[in-house]
Amino acid sequence: MVPAIGQGTWHMENDRANSVRALQHGLDRGLRHIDTAEMYGDGAVERLVGEAIAGRRGEVFLVSKVLPHNASRKGTVRACEGSLQRLGTDYLDCYLLHWPGSHPLGETIEAFEFLVDSGKIRSYGVSNFDEHELAAAVALAGEGRIACNQLLYHLQERAIEHAALPCCGDHGVAMVAYSPFGSGEFPDVSQPGGRLLAEIAANHGASTRQVALSFLLRQPEVLVIPKASRIEHVDDNAEACTFSLSTEEAAQLEAVFPMGPRRGGVPVL
Ligand code: NAP
Repeated sequence: MVPAIGQGTWHMENDRANSVRALQHGLDRGLRHIDTAEMYGDGAVERLVGEAIAGRRGEVFLVSKVLPHNASRKGTVRACEGSLQRLGTDYLDCYLLHWPGSHPLGETIEAFEFLVDSGKIRSYGVSNFDEHELAAAVALAGEGRIACNQLLYHLQERAIEHAALPCCGDHGVAMVAYSPFGSGEFPDVSQPGGRLLAEIAANHGASTRQVALSFLLRQPEVLVIPKASRIEHVDDNAEACTFSLSTEEAAQLEAVFPMGPRRGGVPVL
């Protein structure tokens, strides 16, 4: 079981002390899913996550990612061992391929299975995989083996709703929404979408960010991993599941933040 709201960590190396405190506060508030990657700060973020979870490993659902250029059969195992060392743990709850790369996917999956058998990871998944890439991964790994696909998904970027998100649902793969606030491009009240968010937020005595998370979480296969280095942001995010949007509110948001036309591939950051 993984809570629907987790914690992202990208760029946390830029505000180390506050980020460590924010992650710990998030754990206190039940945001147990922590998402990191060997790429973030060239390992510096995994080190700070390790500091934040020291003595609390059992509480955390810990996820890291292998860079595509490391994702050969041997390279994946080596990269995982590096992540474990920086994180100060002997296992990951889930290990992801950060995006599709040039090493044959079968090799990466073989390495993931080896890591599961050796107890170094409990599950594995992918990230930035479109519907064709996910179907190929499921065909190689077998149904039920790919735990999640992590994809860019926020109010202003709904392209995955065309095919990539339904494909996750079809294969029982959880979809982890990254950059759920648009990574710094959140709509403000000078825009129609920002005004609607504020109105809906007022209906629920909530914040506009909480409404945005509720919108993404209206689909059962979706989890979200907002990044917050400030404790007040962590508190705000932790309370996003205390209300649900009405069907009418969700429809109003869908109209103001349209899905747009279907494009090839998945949007990435
Ligand atoms: P994001 O979560 O969309 O936005 C983060 C920004 O929102 C930060 O500036 C943060 O401020 C602010 N914020 C957070 N909660 C807030 C609140 N309640 N009220 C007001 N502001 C709030 O951006 P992101 O970091 O790009 O995405 C989240 C995570 O997804 C990443 O950290 C990473 O773990 C993952 N990710 C994965 C991929 C991939 O390829 N798989 C790509 C990108 C991101 P403060 O930090 O100052 O609190």
